Amino acid sequence: MEKNKIKHYLIMAASTNHMLRGDQLLKNEGLTTSLVPAPSEYGSVCAIAIKVKTIDLEKAEMILKESDIKLQGIYPEKIKKLSGLVEKLEQSIISDDFLKVLKKIEEGEELSFEDIVTLLKSERRAEKDALFSAADRMRREIIGDVVDVRGAIEFSNICRKDCKYCGVRKSLKDLERYRMNEDEIMEVVHQIHNIGLQTVILQSGEDLWWTPERIVSLIKRVKRETGMRITLSIGERSKEEYALYKKSGADNFLLKIESTNKEIFKFIHPDDDYERRVKCSNDLRELGYLNGSGNIIGLPGQTVEDIAKDILFFKEMGINMIGIGPFLPAKGTPFEKYPPGSVEMTLKAVAVTRIVCKRVFIPATTALASIDKDGQTKALKAGANTIMLINTPTKYRENYQIYSEKNMVDLKSADKAIKEAERKFPPYLRLGGRKDAKHT
Ligand code: SF4
Repeated sequence: MEKNKIKHYLIMAASTNHMLRGDQLLKNEGLTTSLVPAPSEYGSVCAIAIKVKTIDLEKAEMILKESDIKLQGIYPEKIKKLSGLVEKLEQSIISDDFLKVLKKIEEGEELSFEDIVTLLKSERRAEKDALFSAADRMRREIIGDVVDVRGAIEFSNICRKDCKYCGVRKSLKDLERYRMNEDEIMEVVHQIHNIGLQTVILQSGEDLWWTPERIVSLIKRVKRETGMRITLSIGERSKEEYALYKKSGADNFLLKIESTNKEIFKFIHPDDDYERRVKCSNDLRELGYLNGSGNIIGLPGQTVEDIAKDILFFKEMGINMIGIGPFLPAKGTPFEKYPPGSVEMTLKAVAVTRIVCKRVFIPATTALASIDKDGQTKALKAGANTIMLINTPTKYRENYQIYSEKNMVDLKSADKAIKEAERKFPPYLRLGGRKDAKHT
């Protein structure tokens, strides 16, 4: 392969620690890098690779070598061609526009805004089947069959904000509020570490009792006692705060944009400013977090074109984890009576996001599991590659419902979805527990 035709290279270090340290070193030297799922042929989906521009490769190698970062290998990021997509459809009824876009996917060409809209608007059975199957192939060829499983702890349902769709918004007076303390959280962290999970998601409302000092103490304790990767999902904070958490050991951050249509964003987030949300996402990227975002499908006033713009936003912002879920009305909120979002449109958005953003983590969301009992299986077959277990203690769970009738995704339901989608459980998951576990 000619080097000048390759836009990016993927650097794989010998361990997660070396990978994260290496990525930070490169960023400190002013190189543009991103952390992406490792190629299936060189490691499991849970391994991460550092993506660098071809033009920066030599410099990156030098920096990593000088800092004793151990490398497993450096690989060109190949353009993914999916041959045979169109041939399969020769006997089917599909529109010319759809066929044109499918040919572009086959050739590994970039899709335009109009192409994305065409895919999202596909209505014929054969078109939808072709879209899901193209996304599924893209996922398989890029990151393999292993489903990455993560554990979430919703540690506080106290929030200073009043997002209109949210079932823990501050003006819900009847909601029983809770806040787990550090020891309670650590008990659950040890439980999920014991079954082999490698990533814990620490999620809460914007609860300012959890000061930077308290959050730093929690991050350090999780790292010290388990070494797990930490995803924070605690909302909008200053860049200094995000930097402090990164320095203390946080690895990933989830901060969803929900909608890139500024009017809808304002309507659903009375306390938020669109530009500030984007700035927070940019800050997180600059600080070297594995950066998560996502959107809600079926928000009031949302069009297919809005969803297409969301997908392009994820691509342009270099988002690494993209959560796409249907809108679900929550009791007692201003949106209580609004109709839920469509499962089918959510699945189409998942599929198109996989095709457009390629090497990213896409969860089969809890929201999908809540609206359709087979929702997670369907998402895994349409391009998704991760599942988030809800590990919040039972006594608190029912009070952390961003939307009503939230389904509890546990190991049993994840197992079912993974088997039904004919995918693989991650090798790190030990359902019998670890021998070296400190707690049970
Ligand atoms: S969506 Fe998040 S920030 Fe908004 S009210 Fe709910 S918990 Fe708070």
